[in-house]
Amino acid sequence: MISTHGMTRPADLSDVRTTNLAVVLRFVRTHAPCSRADIAASTGLNKATVSSLVTDLLERRLLRETGLTENRIGRPASMLTLQSRPYAAIGIEVAADHLVAIAVDLTGERLLTWRRAYPGLDGTPGRAEAAVAALAGRVVAKMAAQERRVLGLTVAAPGMVAPGGGVRFAPHLGRAELDLGAALERGLRHPEFEVVIDSAANLAALAEYRGGADADTPNLLALIGGVEIGAGIVADGRALRGSRGFAGQAGHLQVDCTGPICRCGRQGCLEAVAGLPALVRHALPDTAQDGPIVDFAPELERITALAGNGDAHVVKALTEIGTLLGRGVAMLAELLDPQVVVLGGSFATLAPWLLPAVETELASRAPGEIGCRVTASTLHPDGAALGGAMLALDRLEAGKLPAPAA
Ligand SMILES: [Zn+2]
Repeated sequence: MISTHGMTRPADLSDVRTTNLAVVLRFVRTHAPCSRADIAASTGLNKATVSSLVTDLLERRLLRETGLTENRIGRPASMLTLQSRPYAAIGIEVAADHLVAIAVDLTGERLLTWRRAYPGLDGTPGRAEAAVAALAGRVVAKMAAQERRVLGLTVAAPGMVAPGGGVRFAPHLGRAELDLGAALERGLRHPEFEVVIDSAANLAALAEYRGGADADTPNLLALIGGVEIGAGIVADGRALRGSRGFAGQAGHLQVDCTGPICRCGRQGCLEAVAGLPALVRHALPDTAQDGPIVDFAPELERITALAGNGDAHVVKALTEIGTLLGRGVAMLAELLDPQVVVLGGSFATLAPWLLPAVETELASRAPGEIGCRVTASTLHPDGAALGGAMLALDRLEAGKLPAPAA
């Protein structure tokens, strides 16, 4: 089953028992090791209910008893923790010039991190889709070899993900449309687990919300730099996606009314000044003669090295870009009032030089206009792939539980 737009809502829970199973699972994740009595005391569920729920979760191999006990008055209480062994959740990021695959166990512990170059800019129909499906197949096979059951696989796609798994407007993939859904369905041979396709920015936001330096901050925005720029929005602890799932297209906020023309046809969009092609052109003007850049990693490395050595031109260029990025952050902050804006992707790589300019721009606003902090992601460069893997864990805690083992 292929679907899009993850980050499940608690409202999806269909019945009370499923809700309560999810409550216990969430409690154990955040409080392990803990006893049945701890769960009952904190969740308000009665002891008999907790005991029955725990038995169910043990049978589904989602929890295990640690063998340790807590000495209480009366019988010693056996301590519970998440079962790491039998399950895996997979995330794959389709970046401009490479793929990243990450698998985690139920506790969020990494099982594998693979990076693969891939011909993203090659416009050959079906080639990018086939590369993603092939990598997905290899990760699933690896998990099967470890006798792990895959809970879910999420692909973090660039651009806008339409219902059905088509990815719209992914220009750096050389195409206007990318049909990942069908390719994955075929490549994975109609998997039993759920396959989700979501935008890289949404998943990066989920990763920050579940495991970043500002985890559990209910109003959080992840602003991801790259060839394209996207924002993932968490509002009141939920993903804010809009009516078509296209919310967060921060790349086309106009930050400089006299700026360069954007590929969208308008002038001075954030992407036209701070997207990777514009950023490289501005910081390294000598690259203009090289023609279109296919692989941005070496250019980014060069920019980082030059800025690190205090190269006046590069530092000035990054400061100017940081100021315009700050304008974009200010617009988003005024609209959404987040507690924190986490910069990811190329913005995280260049944060030492961008962030001071962003902060100066925000500080120049009227007092109280902007109430948020801006930080660089600590999950970079794996945020989107990690968010993809965490989505299956998120759905699990929202009640999408695997059936008990036969
Ligand atoms: Zn634009």
